Amino acid sequence: MVTVLKNKALQKSNSFISIFIFLIVSILIGCSSSKDIYYELPLEFRQPQKKIEFIENYRHYLKGIKIFIDPGHGGNDRKNVGFEGNVVEADINLNVALVLAEYLREANADVYLSRDKDTTITLEDRSKMADSVNADIFISIHHNAPGAADDIWTNYTSTYYHSKPGNYNFNPINNDLAKYIQRDLAYAMRNSGGPYSFDGTYSDYIIYPSDGFYVLRNSKIPAVLIESGFTTHHNESQRLIDPLFNRIEAWGIFRGLCRFLKAGIPKINFESESDTVNANINELNFSITDSLNIIPNSITVRIDSILSNDYSFNEKNNLLIIDIFKLEKDEHIIKITAANINGIHSFPFEKEIFVIKNKTIKGIK
Ligand SMILES: [Zn+2]
Repeated sequence: MVTVLKNKALQKSNSFISIFIFLIVSILIGCSSSKDIYYELPLEFRQPQKKIEFIENYRHYLKGIKIFIDPGHGGNDRKNVGFEGNVVEADINLNVALVLAEYLREANADVYLSRDKDTTITLEDRSKMADSVNADIFISIHHNAPGAADDIWTNYTSTYYHSKPGNYNFNPINNDLAKYIQRDLAYAMRNSGGPYSFDGTYSDYIIYPSDGFYVLRNSKIPAVLIESGFTTHHNESQRLIDPLFNRIEAWGIFRGLCRFLKAGIPKINFESESDTVNANINELNFSITDSLNIIPNSITVRIDSILSNDYSFNEKNNLLIIDIFKLEKDEHIIKITAANINGIHSFPFEKEIFVIKNKTIKGIK
């Protein structure tokens, strides 16, 4: 009995030693290998039924929404290739964009791409293409490289919006969209959001002061530019050239976009049946509508770029009335934004109005 016990104890001890040696060898092999790729499959990739359910749950919010996807660079523009020369940003952008298009189409959205192969498209044409299809949302996909040529350490995920708060041409909905995409993309990639930003979203003025990115500056719809990860960071570059990881990136962007659209976008309409306004009135009427309630103190009215308090908002009928009796000049630009209770802003309503000498409006265009 004792002998048997001893043998069992010995066997147990031997198996512990074997496991220990196996673990040490595995760790040593793991440390010495340069081909390890570190990423985690999202829940929806590990359990395909979850992916089907997620897409099904959001189909209602994406139905008929026109999404314009812009894979950056391509064709003659293939400069960012990482330090090892094999991480071609233009190709990775395209890979992610094509998978994103696939997910969006499964969810009932109408998808347009500035390119679906390796070809040269000017920045001007990218914006024009989005306009020509009357897209609702513009998403430009890029991968980053550091300013310093020998910087092998920097890596993070960031999402850019045009202009910055306080500027007339800052449209808060772009920041809203950037936040939603950035949150889910960074989470899917398990990356941080980079320095000098609380949530990983950035004004494009950080890169081009008072100018911003061309495709964002010239967008007439909510628009963001994603810099997903750095081609120049060794571990990140190994992931970026893995097609499965590109699918994870696309899934992160898709999730953020779905959740943004579910949060609702307020719409502002001029309440008139034609563009000719009764010449005897001294107020302008607009409706602000959303599937959720509007936050009254989120409303901003600018007349000729100056914030105005000469308005009232009725929460019961969603009617915004702007007094124009103080206006003196003939031509004025009116710009209105408002947010719903989820904090999502409308795209600005911006129109030129004409006031004739006796302070009544002749027309609107
Ligand atoms: Zn780029």
